[in-house]
Amino acid sequence: MKKLLLITACQISLTLLFAQKEGDEAIINKMKDEGQKNSQVMDIAFYLTDVSGPRLTASPGFMNAATWAKNKLQSWGLKNAAIEPWGDFGRGWQQERCYVAMIKPYYVPLVAQPKAWTGSTPGNKIMNAGIVLIRAKDSAELMQYSGKLKDKIVMVFSNDTLKPGFKADANRYTDEGLEKMAKAETQKPGVMRTIQGRRTFGSTLNNFYLQEKPALILSTSRGNEGTIFVQGGGQFTKDAPEAPANVVLSSDDYLRIQRLVAAGIPVELETEVKTKFFDKDLKGYNVIAEIPGTDPKLKDEVVMIGGHLDSWHGATGATDNAAGCSVMMEAIRILKATNFQPRRTIRIVLWGGEEQGLFGSRNYVKMHLADPATMQLQPAHQKISAYYNLDNGTGKIRGVYLQGNEKARPVFTQWLAPFKEVGASTITISNTGGTDHLSFDAVGIPGFQFIQDEIEYDTRTHHSNMDTYDHLIPDDLKQAATIVAAFVYNTAQRDEMIPRKELPKARGEGVRGF
Ligand SMILES: [Zn+2]
Repeated sequence: MKKLLLITACQISLTLLFAQKEGDEAIINKMKDEGQKNSQVMDIAFYLTDVSGPRLTASPGFMNAATWAKNKLQSWGLKNAAIEPWGDFGRGWQQERCYVAMIKPYYVPLVAQPKAWTGSTPGNKIMNAGIVLIRAKDSAELMQYSGKLKDKIVMVFSNDTLKPGFKADANRYTDEGLEKMAKAETQKPGVMRTIQGRRTFGSTLNNFYLQEKPALILSTSRGNEGTIFVQGGGQFTKDAPEAPANVVLSSDDYLRIQRLVAAGIPVELETEVKTKFFDKDLKGYNVIAEIPGTDPKLKDEVVMIGGHLDSWHGATGATDNAAGCSVMMEAIRILKATNFQPRRTIRIVLWGGEEQGLFGSRNYVKMHLADPATMQLQPAHQKISAYYNLDNGTGKIRGVYLQGNEKARPVFTQWLAPFKEVGASTITISNTGGTDHLSFDAVGIPGFQFIQDEIEYDTRTHHSNMDTYDHLIPDDLKQAATIVAAFVYNTAQRDEMIPRKELPKARGEGVRGF
């Protein structure tokens, strides 16, 4: 009798499961179709990159993109669309002019871009100046240059040499690489580190420059073949002193000038660097919008997706992270196009301030869900089923990082099954760091990032002057959007929320694990 009951129960649940799977399969196929045939992912990317421009946090470019994204989401019928402040950030900044050329011993224009939040060259006009080559490895040696740098162009001796690139810039995961990830075992939690950092020679140098007021600092970065990696160089906090003009040169240009100066050959540069600070509105913003849930019991629960909208300023942040934002927006468009009425509410958030320390997502979580310092939970903490993030460039999705949440493995295994044929089937227990899902993970809300093929992310585009629209791969972004749409669909429709890990302990003020 018992046995019979068991069999019957099994049969019933199998039938149910099968019925649900069949329905799901039709819907997933519809979404795949929409994502392939009517994709708008590259149009979205075009507006976020070419049209909006660089999207440095609190810059006009960021606000252009935020406004466009909000309006677009609204036009698709999303509700509660807003550009939501997350708290105080500081000043905006943008470059308005950057001209750096060597005019002696001969003329050549140089590849150069200012570091964010650094100042302008003096006098509002093109200036010529000689170069002081600083050779110092500690503050005592640096003091020899005290009083000698005012209105000069300065550079610090670099030991770098350029090596030819024998390896391809772009790569995809191999089957072996994916298999290794799938077999990975649970990682130990990362070592907590305190915010209070060590005083480095770099910060000594920056303080020295603030006092000595050179006209222009020449900096170098990793990168070759005209690629420069350019991030921040000054402070965005409201009353911080303005750092002198500071440009990153291409390695080739930097090393050529250094060799000439070191050999005693007179070098002169002609430069004009103009940058602008914006201090009217010091707040930071996220873009947010929703597809409201329809199930009376589940509509208060939420599936969240997102990526960061802000970028560095050396290009238009195409792979970091217009790609992720375009995929997330396209996933929403696909869901709307298939006329999906979700049981749970779906919320998309495009974050600001990620590049300066995940500010947008951390503050969102702190404001609405829980503070990782105290682990005092707000009611909404219980209502977020999962947060899915995309922020590793243009590469297609190859699977998902479980972020240490083993209980999510069987769920995601089932959800990835329809996407095995397009290369996405790997599930790894591993963590991935450095971006906005960590803000959710830090308070015990399931936060996931997808595994993506790297393509040229680390070699060429990430935070560089090459991070442009042309480095996006349309087919990869289309694939990613349909997978995200399917994950959102499944998370919204599932009877239960995504299983959670144990709640983390309060980490105390001033400590962060990421
Ligand atoms: Zn990023």
